[in-house]
Amino acid sequence: MHFSGGESAAVTTGGSIKKIKYFMNNTVIDAHNISKVYNPETIPVYAINNVHLHLEKGEFTALVGPSGSGKTTLLNLIGGLDKPDNGNIFINGIDITRLSANELINFRLHNIGFVFQSFNLIPVLTARENVEFIMLLQRIKKRNRENRITQLFKQIGLEDRINSRPAYLSGGQQQRVAVARALASKPQFVLADEPTANLDSKSASNLLDIMDKLNKEEGMTFIFSTHDPRVIERARRVITLVDGRISSDTAVVETSIPHHINP
Ligand code: ADP
Ligand code: MG
Repeated sequence: MHFSGGESAAVTTGGSIKKIKYFMNNTVIDAHNISKVYNPETIPVYAINNVHLHLEKGEFTALVGPSGSGKTTLLNLIGGLDKPDNGNIFINGIDITRLSANELINFRLHNIGFVFQSFNLIPVLTARENVEFIMLLQRIKKRNRENRITQLFKQIGLEDRINSRPAYLSGGQQQRVAVARALASKPQFVLADEPTANLDSKSASNLLDIMDKLNKEEGMTFIFSTHDPRVIERARRVITLVDGRISSDTAVVETSIPHHINP
């Protein structure tokens, strides 16, 4: 049995996941003592070195730090794309480090939305099909898919480009479709690895506006890595990584002054 700080308890036995008890709280991610070492046999690189991380529902958190500080590695670990060498990662009380490869695929599909730096849309599918694909995997009924797609494209402001293939969309538009795809499965949270790195300032600002709105209006939890100061200033919590360790973790007090990425 693997308990998470007394707040939640889950058990994974014989391939089945069963929550035995879950006290109401707002924790979505609870990572304890996680480490990831590359090249342990030769020249070890401690990409993540004994990190503790606690994230609550509704956060809009930036993961910052210089290139090579471990941002991508940490996102991949909490997103279940990679396994830590040490430590446990509880998502809604379930220790994902204990899941089998198949359980993890299923868990990711239903619980985690991903947005990547390079958009990663499927080129032969239209914008709409890219979003619908996830819902087909989840076996969501046609009418529910239709409703969700209509709502998502409205939220990203791309109703008029719904039938375009990625090649006919700008980078900013492609990334907005990627956000819609990440939300299609109604995940517990969305992880975005440098989502604005390939965007111009205006598109980056527009993307942050959409994420911010989804966070405020739908309570969607976002954690995004970036080293763009204009993106960092939009976050409500900033976690800084240096050499695979958390060097600071700061809550940002919101002011009434509107933020604008464009100077
Ligand atoms: P960031 O996203 O902050 O730029 P990364 O998580 O990509 O940082 O990398 C953290 C450290 O781990 C770096 O030193 C990087 O070179 C190393 N690293 C990342 N992926 C691998 C890998 N697959 N094999 C070996 N070293 C890696
Ligand atoms: Mg990275």
